[in-house]
Amino acid sequence: MTKPISNSLAQADISSVLHPYTDARAHERQGPVVIDHGKGIYVYDDKGKEYIEGLAGLWSVAVGFDEPRLVKAAADQMAKLPYYHTFSHKSHEPSVRLAEKIVEMTPENLTRVFFTSSGSEANDTMIKMVWYMNNALGRPQKKKFLARTKAYHGITVASGSLTGLPNNHRDFDLPAIPVRHLTCPHFYRFGEAGETEVAFAARLIAEVEAVILEEGPETIAAFIGEPLMAAGGVMEPPAGYWQGVEALCRKYDILLVADEVICGFGRLGTMFGCQHFGFTPDILIASKQLTSSYMPLAAVVFSEAVYDAIADNTAKIGTFGHGFTASGHPVATAVGLENLKIIEERGLVENAARVGPILQARLRELSGHPLVGEVRGVGLIAAIEMVADKATKQTFEMPGKIGAKAFAAAQENGLIVRAIGDAVALCPPLIITEAQIGEMVGRLAKALDETAAWRSAENLN
Ligand code: PMP
Repeated sequence: MTKPISNSLAQADISSVLHPYTDARAHERQGPVVIDHGKGIYVYDDKGKEYIEGLAGLWSVAVGFDEPRLVKAAADQMAKLPYYHTFSHKSHEPSVRLAEKIVEMTPENLTRVFFTSSGSEANDTMIKMVWYMNNALGRPQKKKFLARTKAYHGITVASGSLTGLPNNHRDFDLPAIPVRHLTCPHFYRFGEAGETEVAFAARLIAEVEAVILEEGPETIAAFIGEPLMAAGGVMEPPAGYWQGVEALCRKYDILLVADEVICGFGRLGTMFGCQHFGFTPDILIASKQLTSSYMPLAAVVFSEAVYDAIADNTAKIGTFGHGFTASGHPVATAVGLENLKIIEERGLVENAARVGPILQARLRELSGHPLVGEVRGVGLIAAIEMVADKATKQTFEMPGKIGAKAFAAAQENGLIVRAIGDAVALCPPLIITEAQIGEMVGRLAKALDETAAWRSAENLN
């Protein structure tokens, strides 16, 4: 039987693609927005409509959507050596140079790199490395992970288990590895009545210790966290939280893993999120802005102590039985190296530090808007949470409807945001200027007004 080929791109999409993070039946009815090309912070659909990419794609395109140097780096590497692997003592220049660059840029104690193609694979690799290490060190019970509710660490079987979002577990039979999800460190939502932010931080740290003692420190391998939780809703932890977690990790010999897939390479106005919050991880996960997502690439970056334990075991066994066909892919690593050079040469981390506070201030001007419960964020990442009642922080009766409306209204007004429940998130390319921030916030404000009008018309509580 010959399968029909459709002439229309949108029709072909509907009949052949199962989209990630999409209601497939709704998609059959409404079809895709086909993005055709990009320029700077803007993308354009196939009808020529312009959008500010307020989420930098998926929190990831630091240098904008038309960087010729990355195109050239990819083309040059394609022409020279389009593919080679790094198994069994083979190597190639781009992967070595990028690993060296990552070690130079990350905190001093992190000295070794393992490459994968996605953040999920990087976290799966990290989990396996930690297990392998603890078996090698003769402590086979030390395998459990501590994570947080609303965390995002990926969607593969193991990394998806660390993720703390219901839709990533529901009907997928996850979690499938030993993990405890602790309270999300978001004061606005999880602080108790009358509790100060300082008391909130102390309560959460006490909870971490209580869980460690309940499970037995000898069974806890690692604590993983995004320095600032991003995909779960852009939530900054209370002051002192990371210092408390770090002290407990040291006290009970637990590895501290910073998932910097979104925070890394400048998002918060510092090179890494752990530097903004002032803690030192044993393992750091990087992706997204590593290549500005022009190529799929991620890295597990780790300390000499972790490396030594693993390396000794590979000598005993005769191999490290882990690796991907595309680990350290030459085109991806060549693009990553060029991208990091651009981030440095153009001072994009400094730009985030300079214009980030302007974005935060402009968004906080919307605090008085009738829908806005909380405006939050650091540097060039932010969210506005909409509520039914500002005084009581009461959520809407039908969660997600107002968020979806605001998302659609923003898109109508030429702004792509992310809706997370009834919050909308912004995470623009690091190249964004002050004037463009004004334009972006203007489009968002208009979308919020339209959403408020719609809410009144629909009588939504
Ligand atoms: N960790 C974090 C903090 C992330 O935000 C993401 C993706 N949004 C991942 C891991 C997973 O990365 P990927 O989608 O490349 O698997």
